[in-house]
Amino acid sequence: MKFFLIIILSSLASLILAQQNSQIGYIPANEQSVGSELIIIDSDYTLEEALQGITIPPSVKKELEIVSVSYYGFDGLLHKGQIIVNKKVSADIIEIFNVIRETKFPVEKVVPMVEYNWSDDKSMQDNNTSSFNYRFLSGSKVLSMHASGLAIDINPKQNPYVKNGSNSPAGSLYELDENGTICPDSEIVKAFKERGWSWGGDWKSLKDYQHFQKTLE
Ligand SMILES: [Zn+2]
Repeated sequence: MKFFLIIILSSLASLILAQQNSQIGYIPANEQSVGSELIIIDSDYTLEEALQGITIPPSVKKELEIVSVSYYGFDGLLHKGQIIVNKKVSADIIEIFNVIRETKFPVEKVVPMVEYNWSDDKSMQDNNTSSFNYRFLSGSKVLSMHASGLAIDINPKQNPYVKNGSNSPAGSLYELDENGTICPDSEIVKAFKERGWSWGGDWKSLKDYQHFQKTLE
């Protein structure tokens, strides 16, 4: 009797094990599932890892937080990325990404700048969405709002920085009917403005369609 019980228990255990394996066996390492929906992991850093390779004043570093966000990519699939922002705006960023996900506004990827060796050009060329980068305004000694994690650039290729008729990243175009383009009447612009952010697409001397920033009082 004891013998049969052992056989029954061990075959039950292998049955459960086999079932578990068949559930996780086909999911590649960079994917997880949320409910029934697969999620593709674009970024999986700790804050410490994501701040490697750059010198940041301690007073700035202690203001920063790494936030996980999810969004639909241009492939129509759900992705998980990460963004380093100022702690004072992380709640805004989470809420705004909820709007981005719910409205299925496509975002190419959201990966911290360490992946691009802190090069804004490389990040823009890869159509990456990012916030914190300890850098100056282009061609100046003035720290950018990105240096305090209070600015974010979204889909740079669809939403270029336009100055004196030249677009960054190189080869990018601003076309209102392109998917992933931020338009004056986009839900995303509304979501930022409602929370006190301003949009670079409203600027007069130059246009920075990818850029939103928040000035703290
Ligand atoms: Zn920017």
